[in-house]
Amino acid sequence: MRGVTIERVVVRRIRWRGPRAFESAAGAWDERESCLLELVDSEGVHGAGEGAPLPGLSPDTIDSCERALRGALRPGMAIASGATMVRAALDALGSTLASTPAARFAAETAYLDLVSRRAGVPLARMLATTFDLPRPSSSAALTSVLDGDTTRWAGALERALGRGLRCVKAKIGNPDWEHEKSALADLRRRAGDQVELRLDANRAWATCSVDELAARLDWCASLAPRWLEEPVAVSVARSEVLDVLDRSRTPIALDESLRWPAGDDQIRPLLARGAARALIVKPTIVGGTSRAVELAKMAMGSGTTSVVSHALEGPIGFAALAELALAIGGSDAAGLDRHPMLAAWPTTCTPHLVENAVLARAHSGIGVSARDVLDAAAR
Ligand SMILES: [Mg+2]
Repeated sequence: MRGVTIERVVVRRIRWRGPRAFESAAGAWDERESCLLELVDSEGVHGAGEGAPLPGLSPDTIDSCERALRGALRPGMAIASGATMVRAALDALGSTLASTPAARFAAETAYLDLVSRRAGVPLARMLATTFDLPRPSSSAALTSVLDGDTTRWAGALERALGRGLRCVKAKIGNPDWEHEKSALADLRRRAGDQVELRLDANRAWATCSVDELAARLDWCASLAPRWLEEPVAVSVARSEVLDVLDRSRTPIALDESLRWPAGDDQIRPLLARGAARALIVKPTIVGGTSRAVELAKMAMGSGTTSVVSHALEGPIGFAALAELALAIGGSDAAGLDRHPMLAAWPTTCTPHLVENAVLARAHSGIGVSARDVLDAAAR
């Protein structure tokens, strides 16, 4: 019997603007562009994925993403069934798209979306079966991100608490540390001690002396943050800097250090020595869904935690992240919320999102299609 194969591969570029810019020490973005990948199999079942390299953070570009997708995916590719075969298909896609992480995420998402639609299950369930994960969660709490403009923090905090969120992440790294300290102290006072506070410096403290870095980490501990992401470039830090991170009373989380092509040989030693107490996993940056699951398993294996986080993707990428967050589970709030670049899209394109969580839905696949997104873009 002839098996089911990919019959059509469509790659479209879409570009859109957010209602306002998203600012951090790593950059500011007020528009996004992505490659929308659509696969259609020989029985008419669709799968969608999104490749959205984030300029300034991604190792790949929109042009290399598009080229890679057009080169790697061809009609005739077999659609697998069963965990072993699906894993083998993802491995094959992974080796073809190894140097373009956003394209790999798009291809893996589209393939897994199609396979889960064929099986009639949500992507989270397909991920659990494929990667031998525990039963997916029914919901994942959200983290509200307060961007680098401290004048917006009080209002953003109030809105987040009003929506029922209990985790906020402040983007820090302002050149004026004294100003930022007082803004952070004010934020903690307003939030109270029941709200989880995360900090993200996007490596802005790389120019601090070792003593200054130690003093800042010590001061941050007074805020009782859950963790601080990447005060410096952790994966390439000098040994005396790593010693400070190991001893820090403010737990350190890795984000940029997980960026492709970071390998396990770089990450495992940081987890083992304590310079990494959490992993912030962005499939667009780290190299796709399979790699994100590997990193989550690595964190679990070392007794630490991981959270799935966005890189300002559009609706297709975001839906895949929501399903991944449900599949990886854990009690920590996911790094997912309706970010400014997602706010441009109608809520019908974000079926997982409610006010304070992403919820498992009864849909199959990722729950949103390329057609949904193109129709919304045309309006
Ligand atoms: Mg970060």
